[in-house]
Amino acid sequence: MNDLTGKVALVTGAASGIGRAIATAYAKAGARVAVADIDHQRADEAAAEIHGHAIGIAMDVTDEAQVESGFARTERELGAVDILVSNAGVQIISPLVELSFADWKRMLAIHMDGAFLTSRAAMRQMIASGRGGSIILMGSAHSHVASKFKAPYVAAKHGLLGLARVIAKEGAASGIRSNVICPGFVRTPLVEKQIPEQARELGMSEDEVIRNVMLRDTVDGEFTTLEDIADAALFLAGFGSNALTGQSLVVTHGWHMQ
Ligand code: NAD
Repeated sequence: MNDLTGKVALVTGAASGIGRAIATAYAKAGARVAVADIDHQRADEAAAEIHGHAIGIAMDVTDEAQVESGFARTERELGAVDILVSNAGVQIISPLVELSFADWKRMLAIHMDGAFLTSRAAMRQMIASGRGGSIILMGSAHSHVASKFKAPYVAAKHGLLGLARVIAKEGAASGIRSNVICPGFVRTPLVEKQIPEQARELGMSEDEVIRNVMLRDTVDGEFTTLEDIADAALFLAGFGSNALTGQSLVVTHGWHMQ
């Protein structure tokens, strides 16, 4: 099931962190991979470092024209997309009453508009190819729970569950499955940046943020790893039927048991 030979995957936000780990795992499993990121230089570097067939794609997921041209280039150079991982994301830590409308809109644009635009482009290629495929949206434990100071992130990550369910229903007839991966805290640049920010907002030490906020509700006080999420993404990419669609897979060391 983990053999992706002959498949084409496009992963957004793949120049760093979770996206990069997934792109690397997909290439290792035999897929041809488009490493898409707003930071095109780092996307090219990441693609060059992946052992296997990978290309870097410049793509701001909030920009319709860039999404469309990135998918068109992927189809020209690698073939029609079989697997999409809509993963690009950022975090802003702020009390809701201090959050600017501009920051709210930017967060929803990256997480929600990005998921919509890339899913639509992927679905069109999957329907036209007649092969269907797997659409994976990168949610979070925050697709199911809320935390202080993360209003737009929590709202957007909850919203992805709804989007995946609609894609599952509309895509089923064409063999398109859609699921959400919900990671716990993984030590990527996105998380390293928010440890001191949360410490400031909560009046705690950074150690206390890790132990008493980030990992408090896990079963073992452990961070989730890049490999854990890459394994989950490999499983969902390779799963071969509509039996597993419209679901969310919570990969969090037991934080939020469904
Ligand atoms: P990261 O900062 O390491 O990587 C994010 C990547 O997204 C970067 O390469 C960045 O350039 C890219 N990006 C940002 N805005 C973009 C845009 N508009 N268009 C295209 N690319 C853009 O972060 P990460 O921790 O690997 O996060 C990846 C995803 O995983 C995010 O959706 C995040 O919400 C989710 N997630 C992360 C964690 C965690 O603990 N790290 C937990 C749950 C969910």
